[in-house]
Amino acid sequence: MMKKTLLIVNQVSKKFKVGTTDIWAVNNVSFQAPSGEIIGIYGPSGSGKTTLLNLIGGLEKPTNGTIIINSVDITNQKHGTLMKIRLKKIGFVFQAFNLLPELTALENVMLPMLLNKKTFEWAKNRAQRLLREFGLQNHLHHLPEQLSGGQQQRVAIARALANDPEIILADEPTGDLDTDTGQQIVAIFRDLAKKHNKLVLMVTHDPVFIQYFDRTILLQDGKIIKDGKPTEIIKNIIGFSNKK
Ligand code: ADP
Ligand code: MG
Repeated sequence: MMKKTLLIVNQVSKKFKVGTTDIWAVNNVSFQAPSGEIIGIYGPSGSGKTTLLNLIGGLEKPTNGTIIINSVDITNQKHGTLMKIRLKKIGFVFQAFNLLPELTALENVMLPMLLNKKTFEWAKNRAQRLLREFGLQNHLHHLPEQLSGGQQQRVAIARALANDPEIILADEPTGDLDTDTGQQIVAIFRDLAKKHNKLVLMVTHDPVFIQYFDRTILLQDGKIIKDGKPTEIIKNIIGFSNKK
């Protein structure tokens, strides 16, 4: 499949005001990413990972800079247009799964399609197909509380894929899972990039996952301190870079 530049983040900053103090949560960040890749965003707590992801997902507006998704400048859109872009082009996955507790697995996955004005039957068929793909064919009518963490996260991934987005944004999606289950979830994300040509951006602070990423962006104090392949990143983290 053709790789095209799907995402351009250009000199993006985000300032929060806390009392009289300015916090630059994201500070002049630039990078580009093509479809078909899984990219890690790695850094300590407070380094700006969530803020960066929220800016790319249109949940926050940058203080400076531009973000372009598939040739559309999302920093320049009216609220309603941005909502539509989010619904159709971007799939979100969160650490705490964020499923609606009173809806079944099937209903949770159907919801974004119904919001996107698909018919009930169409949404139901696609939701069943997605849940089957993730091994949940026997859990369609379970409520989130009746599912394990790994199962809930697979429902959340199916929901993120409901409207066939170009970009999947996952914020510490393995944070509440044990290591084995976490690795299964990351393997799913890798497949989405490699077999379905999605762009996946995955935030983590667990170095175990870096080997699964095509590239990892290392963040510190809101800045990119390194953007590279797994071996370079791992050397950087353990402090071997540029030392003989
Ligand atoms: P990470 O996800 O890497 O832990 P965050 O993006 O959540 O980092 O936060 C980066 C910095 O921005 C932190 O210092 C955090 O306290 C601050 N921050 C994040 N969101 C807000 C907010 N809504 N208001 C004020 N400060 C914020
Ligand atoms: Mg965070």
